[in-house]
Amino acid sequence: MVAQTYFKQAAERLQMDDGMRAILSTPKRALTVSIPVRMDDGSYQVFVGHRVAHNMARGPAKGGIRFHPDVTLDEVKALASWMTWKCACLDLPFGGGKGGVAVDPHKLSMLERERLTRRYTSEILPFIGPDQDIPAPDVYTDPQIMAWIMDTYSMTHGTTSLGVVTGKPLALGGSKGRDKATARGVQFVLREACRQRKMSIKGAKVAIQGYGNAGSHLATLLHAEGAKIVASTDSHGGVLDPKGLDPARLMAHKEAKKSLKTFPGKAITNKQLLELPVDILVPAALENQITANNASRIRAKIIAEAANGPTTPLADDILFKRGRIVIPDILANAGGVTVSYFEWVQDFSSFFWDEDEVDKRLEVYMKRAYASVAQTAAKHKCSLRGGAYVLAVDRVAEATRVRGIFP
Ligand code: NAD
Repeated sequence: MVAQTYFKQAAERLQMDDGMRAILSTPKRALTVSIPVRMDDGSYQVFVGHRVAHNMARGPAKGGIRFHPDVTLDEVKALASWMTWKCACLDLPFGGGKGGVAVDPHKLSMLERERLTRRYTSEILPFIGPDQDIPAPDVYTDPQIMAWIMDTYSMTHGTTSLGVVTGKPLALGGSKGRDKATARGVQFVLREACRQRKMSIKGAKVAIQGYGNAGSHLATLLHAEGAKIVASTDSHGGVLDPKGLDPARLMAHKEAKKSLKTFPGKAITNKQLLELPVDILVPAALENQITANNASRIRAKIIAEAANGPTTPLADDILFKRGRIVIPDILANAGGVTVSYFEWVQDFSSFFWDEDEVDKRLEVYMKRAYASVAQTAAKHKCSLRGGAYVLAVDRVAEATRVRGIFP
C-alpha cells in the first residue's frame, strides 16, 4: 500500500525511532462484524463489515464508510491510515478511520439498504460517536445512508446526536458547501501552486480525468475563474477541444448520455488525456493512473490529485525530478474532510453557517496547509508529497509524545 511507503519515507526524514514507527503504523483498533439482513423476499443474507480507527492521538477518528463488493479488512486499514495523515496535514483535530461493508448496494432495494445500514451501525455502535469515531460517505454511500446511521445511533442513545456522522442531508445538520468542498479545496491549492509557478489560473489549459462529483464541480469553478477546460474523460473516454469546453454542456451531456465519450468534438482516451500539452492536469477518477510508464510523458506543469492515489511512488519521483509540481492527494482533495470538520463543529454548536462562510474558512485551511507543506518540502529538499507526509507524520508523532503512552 502506497501510504505505507510514504509513511516510511517520512519516518526516515524525521529520523524517527523504531518504537514510534511501530505505534504510528499500527491501527489502534479494527473491528469486523457480521450483518444479518432480512431481504424483501423473506430470506436472510449475512454481510461482513469492518470499522477501523487507525489513530486517535489528535482527536476522534474520521473517515468514510464504503459499500462495495471488494471491501476487505486490509483495504479498510490502509484507507484509515491515509485519513490519519490527511487530517493531520490539514491540522484538523481528528485521527483517521474508515469503514466498509462487502456488498454490492446496487443489488439491494432501498429497504434492504436501510436494514443493512442500521444493523451495521448497531454492530459498530460502541466504537463510533461524536467524540470517538465519526463516519462519512465514501464509495456508494450517500447523505441518506448517513441519515440512517445518525438516526440509529440517536435512537439507541435516546438523544439527537447530529455529530456522529458528517455528509448528512442539509435537513439534518449537514453543512452548506459540502457537495462542492473537494473541488473548492483543489481550486484553492491550485491557486497557491500557480502563484509558486508564477502562472495564472486565468487562461491556463486544464485537463480533467473523471467527471463525477470532484471533476465536474472543479471544471465549473476553474472555468468561472477563466481557465480553459480543454479535455475531460470518464470511464468510457472523453473529448478534447483546444478552444475550451463548457462545463455546463459537458454535465448536461453526461446526464443525458451517461458518458462524455460521445460529446461533440475530438474523442480521446483516458491515456491520451494524461499526456496532453496542458498547464494543469487533474486526475479526479481512479488510483494508479500516472505510473513509471507514462510519467516521463506528462506535459502538465502542475498536477493536482483530486483522486486518491492517482500517482505511483515511482512516477512521483520522476515528476519531481522533471520539475513538475504534484499537489498530493492528502492535501489536494482534503477540502471534503475539512468541510466535514466544519459540519461537526456546526452540529456541536447548533449554529449553521452560510455557504460563503464555509468557503472562506475552507480557503484559510487550504492555503495554510499548502504553505506549511511547501515550507516542509523545501526544508527537506523533497516533493510536496514528501513534505505533506513529513508534516502530517510529525504532527501525529508530536501528539503521541506529549500525551505519553498509557499507563
Ligand atoms: P464519482 O463517482 O462522483 O466520479 C468518478 C468519475 O470517474 C466518474 O465520472 C467516472 O466515470 C470516472 N471514471 C471511472 N473510471 C474511470 C477511468 N478509468 N478513467 C477515467 N474516468 C473514470 O467520484 P468522486 O466523488 O468525484 O471521486 C473521484 C475521486 O476523488 C476518487 O478517487 C475519490 O476517492 C476522490 N475523492 C473524492 C472526494 C469527494 O468529496 N467526492 C473527496 C476526497 C477524494
